[in-house]
Amino acid sequence: MEVNVSQLLQASIGNTRDFSLDEPILIIDESESRVTGTLRVTKTHRGVLVQGAVETKVPMECSRCLKTFKNKLTFDVEEEYFPCLDIKSGNPLDTPDEPDSFLIDEHHILDLNEAIRQNALLAIPMKPLCRKDCAGLCQICGRDLNKAHCDCDKGIIDPRWAKLTDLVEAGKKSKKRKKETE
Ligand SMILES: [Zn+2]
Ligand SMILES: [Zn+2]
Repeated sequence: MEVNVSQLLQASIGNTRDFSLDEPILIIDESESRVTGTLRVTKTHRGVLVQGAVETKVPMECSRCLKTFKNKLTFDVEEEYFPCLDIKSGNPLDTPDEPDSFLIDEHHILDLNEAIRQNALLAIPMKPLCRKDCAGLCQICGRDLNKAHCDCDKGIIDPRWAKLTDLVEAGKKSKKRKKETE
């Protein structure tokens, strides 16, 4: 989403402008996600500050059942944008050295999409779940346990402990071998 801030850049520090956001924005992969929210732009001494609460849904794979689902993300955006031209004189301005800083272009337009995309990516959970109580897939037969039960004996070894058990077994074996060679 592009916002023209030429009027705000001419206003005094602390002046604000509110607007609502409802746009498809590319967040992950090739698909655009509808992003909604309300944002406030405030004039700062160097540029403008964009703040607001944003919501979107992005397609994601459930970490338990591997099903693709739309994961709702809500997150805040707070980014300062710096003009590359002086609004009154039209002369080029020094922009911050940080390579990731957001700029207002020579037409006094700022593009919100990249800031929204970056904040949305940060809001994605490490282990997305299609629902809180997703039963996941059976470790043995692979069946989706949300849809059907299976008779596999899952009580033997919790997968989280399997590695540990392997290590213990390996340890026992190496001790035994040591004894044999003594
Ligand atoms: Zn799931
Ligand atoms: Zn099973």
